[in-house]
Amino acid sequence: MRLTATELARYRRQIRIDGWGEAAQARLKASTVFIAGAGGLGSPVAMYLAVAGVGQLRIADADTPEMSNLNRQILHDLSRIGMNKAESAKLTLDRLNPEVRVVALAQQITEENTGHLVGDAQIIVDCLDNFPTRFVLNRTALRRRIPLVHGAVWGVDGRLAFIHAPDTPCLRCIVPEPPPSEQVPVLGATAGIIGSLQALATIQFLAGLARAPEGELVVWDGSAMSLSRYGVRKDPRCADCGEVQ
Ligand SMILES: [Zn+2]
Repeated sequence: MRLTATELARYRRQIRIDGWGEAAQARLKASTVFIAGAGGLGSPVAMYLAVAGVGQLRIADADTPEMSNLNRQILHDLSRIGMNKAESAKLTLDRLNPEVRVVALAQQITEENTGHLVGDAQIIVDCLDNFPTRFVLNRTALRRRIPLVHGAVWGVDGRLAFIHAPDTPCLRCIVPEPPPSEQVPVLGATAGIIGSLQALATIQFLAGLARAPEGELVVWDGSAMSLSRYGVRKDPRCADCGEVQ
């Protein structure tokens, strides 16, 4: 896919990164990403994917921004309260980078409609806050054999996993049962760190550059300012990927 003069100007500083060049940028332009959730994680993920020049972003969220979201959900502002979050995200992203096609999907993610929502995306970014819906994404990624970039935050801490099952453990191997659903405290800067890492891992995969470590859990400790990596194992009895083997 050829780059226009405008795109060459816009992406000049990243095209110069070692190993990129116009070919990597053209691969990004030809890519589609499904972003599940336009909240705390979805905000930095969608904004950095948009300004990096990913060709098409499909972003799904059925909720509306509330006052208590604005400490971290930087896609939205006071003027968007009451609007759908996916629609609000599209307004912000269209302004940030009109070269990118943003598809706003104002729908709940369910087992039935996930195929339609994900469309022809080559990768799924998990920016959700509940595990039952994350497991729906996990099964979709497994069926399609596409990566799932999992992110989660609480307080000043967070974690990330680049899952490409069935070659790696799936999300359900790592978290077999959904933890009790509760509203956790979150600082916006924490969502910024984990969301930026998710965006980086997604861009590297799509552009065909150095890959994020697959099948590892990356844990951010915000109090210590440290990032640790832990190996995770496939569970042969996993409810989601066990029978795929
Ligand atoms: Zn599994």
